[in-house]
Amino acid sequence: MSILDCAIIGGGPAGLTAGLYTTRGGLENVTMFEKGMPGGQITNSSEIENYPGVTGEITGMDLMMPWPAQCQKFGLKHDMLNITRVSKSGDIFTIYAEDGTSQDAHSVIIGTGSSPRRAGFTGEDDFFGRGVSTCATCDGFFYKGKEVVVVGGGDTALEEALYLAKICSKVYLVHRRDTFRSAPNTIERLKNTRNIELVLNSVPDEVYGDAAGVTGLRVKNRDGETRNIEVPGVFTFVGNDVNNQTLIQEDGSFLCDMNEQGQVIVDISMKTSVSGLFATGDMRIAAPKQVVSAAGDGAVAALQAISYVDELLN
Ligand code: FAD
Ligand code: NAP
Repeated sequence: MSILDCAIIGGGPAGLTAGLYTTRGGLENVTMFEKGMPGGQITNSSEIENYPGVTGEITGMDLMMPWPAQCQKFGLKHDMLNITRVSKSGDIFTIYAEDGTSQDAHSVIIGTGSSPRRAGFTGEDDFFGRGVSTCATCDGFFYKGKEVVVVGGGDTALEEALYLAKICSKVYLVHRRDTFRSAPNTIERLKNTRNIELVLNSVPDEVYGDAAGVTGLRVKNRDGETRNIEVPGVFTFVGNDVNNQTLIQEDGSFLCDMNEQGQVIVDISMKTSVSGLFATGDMRIAAPKQVVSAAGDGAVAALQAISYVDELLN
């Protein structure tokens, strides 16, 4: 099998943009390894209103739909594989996949993003997928006309609470403080939505239910008082963990330098401490965690990868 000019790991906004710019910029042999459908975590979002030039009410799925075809037009190949490890020996990277196959490459752009974190209350794991969810667009419809709880106080929790309030009869927003880390206009919309009840200074204690699924969530406030909220659905949006597993080597070390939060250290060109390896999007240090910045990272990394491969091979 020939050596790829560039292997792109992850097919979110960062990986897809890297695919567009590497192929359109002259690299001929580029494969994007994406374990699922390309598009990334924004495809779970019910609404995106801050991608420049895209106006009107559109979902994350609507936004990302045309991106893969645009890249494929310029020659990007998509391999639907779960990548388990990326290693480097000499000038050659090897990409190992879960199905036992491997592929060599001259350069690698990684953009594996992040995944929803568990909040850590009793019963959360047992009821996950049976009333506990991290995706309102996926599961919100199951609770049409019913009451649900949303846990969290960031942009995701507030936006998804607003989305659920359109489908559900009532949304209880459980947040551990009394201020939110969210855009001011989102907080304003939240406060003006009549069927959202704020349950502040409170944390989930235990989700309970029966064989059919969740029947309620017990929350505890700062004074230790508990309250049972009888709902069939609990949505948790408490942040994300970086997907950095593919950079872990056989001896347990990371392929490149990372910070203590497990984010990849890059310079402003998305270069990591390993030449030919570029990291993009939500997984890098100081990521703004936005679609537009992830796409920008992908473009920057692609231009760098083109120069790197050019120098390496000529
Ligand atoms: P991701 O989008 O996470 O994509 C990473 C991709 O890598 C995924 O497709 C994943 O399947 C793949 N992958 C991971 N590991 C592997 C592996 N081992 N092998 C192969 N493939 C792998 N941003 C905004 O700008 N505006 C918004 O309104 C907004 N709303 C949001 C709403 C929600 C509910 C969420 C969760 C996020 C929102 N964001 C928003 C943030 C935005 O989605 C992210 O910043 C952006 O998607 C990051 O892009 P990325 O390419 O770095 O990673
Ligand atoms: P986040 O900003 O990290 O917020 C997580 C929220 O969950 C915080 O309010 C936090 O409380 C709470 N929390 C954390 N652990 C908890 C626990 N164990 N139990 C209860 N509550 C817990 O995560 P996010 O909202 O998913 O956003 C991630 C990034 O994506 C952010 O940078 C965000 O701006 C971005 N994003 C942007 C948009 C947009 O631009 N429209 C939309 C979605 C996401 P504290 O506040 O007390 O820490």
